[in-house]
Amino acid sequence: MKASDMKGKIDEIRKELIMQMTRKRYEHTMGVMYTAAALAMRYDADIEKTMLTGLLHDCAKTVNYPSEKLLILCREQNIPVSESESIKPDLLHAKVGAYLATHKYGISDQEILNAIIAHTTGRPEMTLLDKIIYIADFIEPGRNEASNLPIVRKMAFADLDACLLRILEDSLIYLKKKNDIIDPMTAKTYNYYKKQLKK
Ligand code: FE
Ligand code: FE
Repeated sequence: MKASDMKGKIDEIRKELIMQMTRKRYEHTMGVMYTAAALAMRYDADIEKTMLTGLLHDCAKTVNYPSEKLLILCREQNIPVSESESIKPDLLHAKVGAYLATHKYGISDQEILNAIIAHTTGRPEMTLLDKIIYIADFIEPGRNEASNLPIVRKMAFADLDACLLRILEDSLIYLKKKNDIIDPMTAKTYNYYKKQLKK
């Protein structure tokens, strides 16, 4: 897609999402889009493409798609649902997001779709775009839950892989503490990058 087409797409999709998202979700989406753009500048990624991906990353978190509907849509469209996803259907917003990006927003770029799918759990061998979106989702200015945010935000602009590992590690600790469902992919991604960074 040309940069000018990408800009047009971004405008078009923003208009849709502002109508369908809660104010809070839309603000988060803008935060991720612009934080991802800043990281794209830092790491020489395609700025427009990164912004479009950030804009779309939570496109399945609209008022039209409560958790139950995510499950129903997956069944209808034969999108595989893992055990952790059936217990915590909210996790499905990544897969459904890629589905909606394709069928509703006309995105065919597989790198964009893969980054949307990987944005909640990560995956081994993430691309630069995957990492930027994953990290931007965690550090965007509207976030305030995690106690380690100041250091993780600095790390994002200093060492992308170290930052990724830190977020994965902290997420696992946080989920364990809360006794929450841990998607096996999050653990798998963590183990993969822990090994990688030791090298
Ligand atoms: Fe999300
Ligand atoms: Fe998000």
